[in-house]
Amino acid sequence: MSLAVRIDVERLCCPRCGSETLQQAGDELACPACDARYGIDRGVPQLLKDPALFTHLENIDYDAHHNIDEARREKVARDWQKVFERHGVVYGDVLEIGSGTGQLTWGLSHRFPFRSVHACDISTRFLLQADSLVGTDGAPVSYYACDANFLPFRHGSFDLVVGHSVLHHFIDYRKIIHDIAGLLRPGGMAIFYEPVLQGKILVAFMADLMRRIENNTKWGVLDDKDIARIEHMKRHIMKDKWIGHDRERLEKIEDKYVFDINAMRELAREAGYAAMEHSNLDMPKQGYRWFVNQHLLMEGVAPEKLQKYVFVMNTFMETVGEMIPGDIVTPMGYFVFRK
Ligand SMILES: [Zn+2]
Repeated sequence: MSLAVRIDVERLCCPRCGSETLQQAGDELACPACDARYGIDRGVPQLLKDPALFTHLENIDYDAHHNIDEARREKVARDWQKVFERHGVVYGDVLEIGSGTGQLTWGLSHRFPFRSVHACDISTRFLLQADSLVGTDGAPVSYYACDANFLPFRHGSFDLVVGHSVLHHFIDYRKIIHDIAGLLRPGGMAIFYEPVLQGKILVAFMADLMRRIENNTKWGVLDDKDIARIEHMKRHIMKDKWIGHDRERLEKIEDKYVFDINAMRELAREAGYAAMEHSNLDMPKQGYRWFVNQHLLMEGVAPEKLQKYVFVMNTFMETVGEMIPGDIVTPMGYFVFRK
């Protein structure tokens, strides 16, 4: 991108004072209301309320660390497409929050007929990485560096706001959900793909059952380290119980929240949305076994040990899964806020 890029100021507001009169003056954006000036770095407006903010996620090779590749991006786009269709999304102007290195941005540009695509993140480095990934052969994407706590966009600017696994990183996600209601046009939607308590707790339940079977039978499959791994995972899923609203502790952890569907519905009501609908992921062929394995492999439990305990997950799928399949919540899912 070059400095000649025209910034769509009609959509922007000043993150410091909220004024909707931002103007482009050469290689800067200026706010006549509070005299704030914002630079434009390689075509990306620097709309940070506090320019000193950064994310330490920048310090790792994010994509390699999270196994993000072409196949993953296609899968992410396909999963989102199902949700868009299920909830009747309007392909108008879309804003992606916390777009990172472009895992979902790529699909928004290449796989859907949006009128315009906008992506924001706190990291300019990630935005530029996303820009080179998205390329120029899809729908054009506008990028903005900003803090999700002070979104620099005018009221009623978007038909859709999306976030892929970002909301649980934001300490003040409630305020963000409130603010987004203002950015949406009437009938607009905000959709977030996030960890879901009602699903994660099933993973914790099945893993804890394995731990107890091991302790009670001395079967010899799981050792002390595995037991500690299960405890660690359970603690992570149930963190709300021991962290609660302890701000200081929340600030220190990257994955701050696992969202309770009922609490999100309540938040939607408080923030003035008409409704909050929850959408599951498609259940994998192997049922819950796939999710439990994925969680425990990540903790370091060996696959052959998990294989010995497969009866726990199979029992669940053969009873609950066969009788009330629609009531099984997947550990990750979509929260759909309808304005
Ligand atoms: Zn201002």
